[in-house]
Amino acid sequence: PSAPAPADPAPSIAALLHWGRAQLTASATPTARLEAELLLATAASLGRTDLIAWPERQIGEPEQTVFAHMIRRRSQGEPIAYVLGEREFRGLPLRVSPATLIPRPETELLVDWALAQHPPTASIRCADLGTGSGAIALAIALERPHWQVLALDRSGAALAIAATNCQRLKADQIQLIQSDWLSPIAAQRLDLILANPPYVAAQDPHLTRGDLPFEPASALIAGNDGLAAIRRIAAELPRHLTPTGRAAIEHGWDQGAAVRTILNQAGLTMIETHRDLAGHERFTSARRSSD
Ligand code: GLN
Repeated sequence: PSAPAPADPAPSIAALLHWGRAQLTASATPTARLEAELLLATAASLGRTDLIAWPERQIGEPEQTVFAHMIRRRSQGEPIAYVLGEREFRGLPLRVSPATLIPRPETELLVDWALAQHPPTASIRCADLGTGSGAIALAIALERPHWQVLALDRSGAALAIAATNCQRLKADQIQLIQSDWLSPIAAQRLDLILANPPYVAAQDPHLTRGDLPFEPASALIAGNDGLAAIRRIAAELPRHLTPTGRAAIEHGWDQGAAVRTILNQAGLTMIETHRDLAGHERFTSARRSSD
C-alpha cells in the first residue's frame, strides 16, 4: 500500500527485532522479545500485529534511529513505560514521564473500592491527592461521569502530564489543582479522598532496584520511616471529609498497622485494610468518626 522504503540502508522488521532482542537480552531484560516488539511498533508507528504479519517489510532510517535510541535507553535500565511514554492503568492508555510515578496494578484495586462507595448518579465530590499521571482521578472520572473529580499534585510537571491524559481521554469533569496535599482547598468538603502517596523509607534498599531509581523521589520517598506523607494526609482528612465521606490511602505491605494507628489518632474510624493480588496489605480505608 505505502511506497516502498528506500532499499538501502533499510533493514527488515525481522532483522531489527532480532538485533533489538539481542541487545535487551545482553542487558538482562527479562521480557526482551516482547519489549523489542513494543519498542519497534512505537518507533515505526505500527501495530505489534503488523510486525508479526510482515517481517520482511523494510524500516526507514529515521524510524530505525528512533528504535536504536529506545533500545539503548531500555538497555541502560530505564523503565519501559518511560521509553514508550505510556502505561496502561485499568485499561486506560496513560502518558507517563519521569515526572510521574509509573501507575501500578495494585492501585487499580483502590479504584475498584472507591467506585463502590457512593451511588454512581449521586453528586459526589472526590479528590485524588498526588495524582501524578492522573491515573486514579481518570479511572474514577471515566466510570463516574456524574462525580466531580479533583486531581491535586504539588508538581507542575506531573500536572502537565495529567492534563495531557485528561485531554486525550476526554475527562472534562476533572479539575487539576497544584497543591501540597489538601491545603489550598480548605473550604471544600469531599465525599471521597483517595491517595497513592509516597510511602517508601529513605534508606529502603528497594529504591535501588527495578524501575524505582528512575522514578521521581518525591513520588516514592516519605521520610525515614516512609510514613511522613501519610501522617500529613491523615491530619487533614477529618476537616475535609463530609459526614458520610470516606478515604483510602495506599501504603507499603508492612505499613498496615502503622497506618491504622495514624488514622485512628487523627480521629478517623477504620473501615478496613485491603490486600493486593499478592496477598499483601496495600491500602487502608477509613471514614469520619460518627460523633
Ligand atoms: N508501590 C511502589 C513500590 O514500592 C511505591 C509507590 C509509592 O510510594 N506510592 O514499588
